Amino acid sequence: MRWWNTYKILHDMKEKLHWSAAEIRRYQFWKLRQIVRFAYHNSPFYREFYDKAGFSPDQVVSFEDITKIPLLQKKQIQETDPSHVVTQRDENGEPADLDWMVENTSGSTGRPLTIKRTWGDLYHIKAKIIRAFSQTGFRFYHRQAVIKSSAESLTGKHWFERLGILRKYWMAVTVSPEFNLESLRRIRPQHIHAYPSGVLAIAELLIERGQTLDIPVICTGAEVLDHISREKLQEAFNAEIFDLYGTREVGNISWECPAHNGMHVNEDALILELLDESGAPVPDGEEGQVVVTYLDGMDFPFIRYNIGDRAIRMPGICSCGIEFSRLKQVTGRSDSRIRLPSGKWISGLVFQELRDTTWLNAFRIVQDDEKAIKLQIAVRSKPQKRQLDALVKKTRKLVQDELDVIPEIVDKLEYDNSGKIKAVVCNLTSDDAPLSK
Ligand SMILES: [Zn+2]
Repeated sequence: MRWWNTYKILHDMKEKLHWSAAEIRRYQFWKLRQIVRFAYHNSPFYREFYDKAGFSPDQVVSFEDITKIPLLQKKQIQETDPSHVVTQRDENGEPADLDWMVENTSGSTGRPLTIKRTWGDLYHIKAKIIRAFSQTGFRFYHRQAVIKSSAESLTGKHWFERLGILRKYWMAVTVSPEFNLESLRRIRPQHIHAYPSGVLAIAELLIERGQTLDIPVICTGAEVLDHISREKLQEAFNAEIFDLYGTREVGNISWECPAHNGMHVNEDALILELLDESGAPVPDGEEGQVVVTYLDGMDFPFIRYNIGDRAIRMPGICSCGIEFSRLKQVTGRSDSRIRLPSGKWISGLVFQELRDTTWLNAFRIVQDDEKAIKLQIAVRSKPQKRQLDALVKKTRKLVQDELDVIPEIVDKLEYDNSGKIKAVVCNLTSDDAPLSK
């Protein structure tokens, strides 16, 4: 009856969409106090971390006191045995004998992060993403095509799918777009959830053939969706596009509503702070680093966790009536930024301009050293020297002429281990990034 639990949580979560901003804030404070105390008293990792930092949960007496809670860096979790973090423990203080699920996040930097989850945590993660889908028009009887990495497609079918409920059709990004297009024609899904690069390859094939395939809704996530890719998806599938933002650690963080004006943050499930280099909150409209407190993750807590991404919050309330605050844009995923020799980081989004180049099929920017970037390009037709030089010059301008640009023509861009084609990959260590003390 595990799925019944998810259904119940989903029902409650949908009710919370009607909350006022004041109700949301009251609830967040109540949950914040609860999870900080719980983590301190039950997780050896948090107890030690907070004791060392001279922090006690009693210091949190108002919502604003959240800033007194020490910031948690990704590196700390990476370097810790996950068994020290979990809060469910037996009388000897050992992790309780539960049906723990171990999840490894890949991360393009090669340093994995291991999370241990209970079913209780997983119900919340699943309900949260289904709620986001439901706001994009998804209904439980819809056929949903999921275009992601092949590894995830190994999940077996659930019994309820045979009854026509939450039917998922997994398609791997690693197989040819021709094959995936045929699968889509056969499945005729009402809803697609995909990595942008996976579904874009199919869209480009359709455009190339002068065809369209009607799919009402496409939700994208895990990679940055630039506006040119969005337009191509709309054109090829006549679809309404919704972008989602989330991470492996805390699941879905925000989702685009039908007003298509920013992404609502799941504020009943997490507190999202945007902080400047010194750790102070940035005003709405300004870019800051994403720090998340996951209020539903009681068994493996993430409290004031610096995800490493950057985003901008929008002022005001959305025309759809939901009072959960909105992110205007996620400007930089932690692993899709480029570092200039001056030490400044620039968002990978700046490179979307390159997509306007007609002879270019796909590109990837890779930074392995301080002074240069590689521009890997898969081409439709072999460029003339003049065209290639112009592209290199354009790319140099985007990095403010601070980096050398080394072009490299490749037959095909390979998917990374997690089945994504990231447009921008920075292999420099980010240990000296702001807030990472
Ligand atoms: Zn809205």
